[in-house]
Amino acid sequence: MSTAAPYSPELESLGQSMHALVAELYPICRSITGDGVRETLQRLQRLIPLTVHEVPSGTQVFDWTVPREWNIRDAYVKNSRGERVIDFKKSNLHVLNYSVPVQMRMSLEQLKSHLFTVPDHPDWIPYRTSYYKEAWGFCLSHKQFLELSEDTYEVVIDASLKDGHLTYGELLLPGETADEILISCHVCHPSLANDNLSGVAVASFLARNLSNLPRRFSYRFLFIPGTIGAITWLALNESKAGNIKHGLVLAGVGDAGPLSYKKSRRGDTEIDRAAIHALGQLDSKANAFDFSPYGYDERQYCSPGFNLAVGRLSRTPHGTFPEYHTSADNMNFVHPNSLSESYSACQSLFSILERNRTYLNTNPKCEPQLGKRGLYRVIGGSADSGATELAMLWVLNLSDGEHSLLDIAERARIKFDSIYQVAIALQEHGLLTESLQHSSPNPQKASA
Ligand SMILES: [Zn+2]
Repeated sequence: MSTAAPYSPELESLGQSMHALVAELYPICRSITGDGVRETLQRLQRLIPLTVHEVPSGTQVFDWTVPREWNIRDAYVKNSRGERVIDFKKSNLHVLNYSVPVQMRMSLEQLKSHLFTVPDHPDWIPYRTSYYKEAWGFCLSHKQFLELSEDTYEVVIDASLKDGHLTYGELLLPGETADEILISCHVCHPSLANDNLSGVAVASFLARNLSNLPRRFSYRFLFIPGTIGAITWLALNESKAGNIKHGLVLAGVGDAGPLSYKKSRRGDTEIDRAAIHALGQLDSKANAFDFSPYGYDERQYCSPGFNLAVGRLSRTPHGTFPEYHTSADNMNFVHPNSLSESYSACQSLFSILERNRTYLNTNPKCEPQLGKRGLYRVIGGSADSGATELAMLWVLNLSDGEHSLLDIAERARIKFDSIYQVAIALQEHGLLTESLQHSSPNPQKASA
């Protein structure tokens, strides 16, 4: 198996561009609703033609209700000398996300029940939310907390929580067929770089690149607030869910850890297998793990009523690194090379799905005589000819209308690309024909 992805100046500059996008979006105070999400989507519209949807508060979405919209202008805790000892303007993580407005004076003792810290990492500010229970609070480093003295504090959260909208972004790139590949990422975290913005950056650049490529599949990109956004989309678009043949949630794809793929609930779908194959080619340390109903929006896409073939690409799994949901998930925690490798993994994965076909050997009784057709010469140089010959023998042997090229690549332990290349050559020589019953299950044209 290969180790790291080969160096490419294009990928390096792509990594830098994605990193720059993360940096641009990093200061915005996002939440599951509100102007932070709108501003984020507006900035993405400079890169890709996203449609922005606004769903009114109070809309019933399955067992949930679209919440009231939250916006924040300022928040602080001032001591009696008038100094801001906790200041939202310095970090938007300082406010418990979705805090109700507050303006009051109180003792340190009263204030303490509204303060959150991570004692194990005394310099970091935790990220905490209270979306569905009215509350208010401040998050601060444990060091800052220990410095607070007995005093009367002025506590202000200049926020609003009222009827408005839930905002999400969507982009459909139509392909030759109506069958869709879904790419979903969350856009609801404030200044956290890996958790939300890495996925946003990779999804945006994938969309931009795919819009210029020929596509068999249609690609649907969703930039949505976590949980409630996926539930809202599924509730309002239930009739479209059947078109989703493959899907990928992108979350935490910018840290230094190895690529990791979380399988769909079904566990053995084409995207699960294509992802494992693609990741294995890119990174010998890549790993795959089984579905569990804990994580990001794959929980909704893989709920039993939908049970879609949606997996998740991440690097170090969330919750297993100390920086998770703290101020240490910052611009230093995400790396251009990691972003570009994650991007490459998606690209190879989609490229396998685009090219995966099932063929029939037109000469199934004993092996065809390849030499007289000049097939060895047609394909590749001499150093590679043994491997190419082996790939051809596998493709000819397993092309019985029951095995796709991906099945063959897996069974032969040969790269999908090599299997695909020999299949095309064999097809050009009339030794294979496409078996339509197993290829594109829904070949009607997408309406343009
Ligand atoms: Zn998160």
